[in-house]
Amino acid sequence: MIISVTMNPSVDISYPLENFKLDTVNRVTNTTKTAGGKGLNVARVLQQTGANVLASGMIGGHLGEFIQTELENKKIQHDFFTINGQTRNCIAILHEGKQTEILEQGPVISEDEAEVFLAYFADLIEGADILSFSGSLPAGLSDDYYEKMITLCNEQGKLVVLDSSGTVLQKVLASKAKPLLIKPNIEELAALLGKPIENNLESLKHVLSSSLFNGIEWIVVSMGADGAFAKHFDTFYQVTIPQIDVINPVGSGDATVAGLTQALEMKQNDEDVLKHGNVLGMLNAQEKRTGHVNMQNYQALVDQIQVKEV
Ligand code: ATP
Repeated sequence: MIISVTMNPSVDISYPLENFKLDTVNRVTNTTKTAGGKGLNVARVLQQTGANVLASGMIGGHLGEFIQTELENKKIQHDFFTINGQTRNCIAILHEGKQTEILEQGPVISEDEAEVFLAYFADLIEGADILSFSGSLPAGLSDDYYEKMITLCNEQGKLVVLDSSGTVLQKVLASKAKPLLIKPNIEELAALLGKPIENNLESLKHVLSSSLFNGIEWIVVSMGADGAFAKHFDTFYQVTIPQIDVINPVGSGDATVAGLTQALEMKQNDEDVLKHGNVLGMLNAQEKRTGHVNMQNYQALVDQIQVKEV
């Protein structure tokens, strides 16, 4: 089983408006409200591929209940830890071809909740082969909280795919806790190293050989329409993808994480791991709704992806 963890999920509200008027009333007729958060996208994609996936993390209040009902409607198994705080709303106002976002910070986790969650999590992971952790941590949890969670997984021999950024990711990299795979995009990689990344093979090889990544078996750098660049132990791969008609690429990184995690669970070879991750990212980019993939287009796309050792 794959467990997809979202520590700070949200209800994502979309308000499409022809014109967004400031300092007055805007009326919306076509509102959509969906269970959001990167790990929930991962779970949604995995469910569509037929994987045995369980969504987990921290959840609270009536928006937390809404998320769980949404997951049940989609027949996605879930097991969340209930907190006292309220799960957040994230609002996207779509106007004049632009997207203005209002993101609530979300609940503040108490010290007590932080401690009890770790005990709950240690029990939960017994049933998993591999876990993916996606996104940021809610307020109240220390920056080394993923490190603590990964340590629990390492102790039980459970594999971890980590898709996070900033200080939380830095803390993990500097620690003894080792995820099997991390998937930064180019911007996240640049932020991690504190300098811009040149998109050429030699420079990417040099960057991924940094001691910062010691002990991390897989690094997959996703590059949008340019595919991906990866390092597995000491082998480097360039992943070239065909040009596609893109409808909405938001969440393609999450779909890629879903694919990488599933292929690693199935112990696929390096080429197939990278192809499966990229094809799910591309399939997500071809759909309007984030976290949706049309598996009927899978084979046609996968046949056009090239993975080359470089
Ligand atoms: P997000 O944060 O929106 O989830 P990300 O920045 O983490 O995305 P990307 O690198 O944009 O991740 O996308 C992941 C993968 O999805 C890419 O490696 C590629 O395979 C596919 N993909 C994304 N955007 C496109 C695109 N415009 N055309 C073709 N494939 C795409």
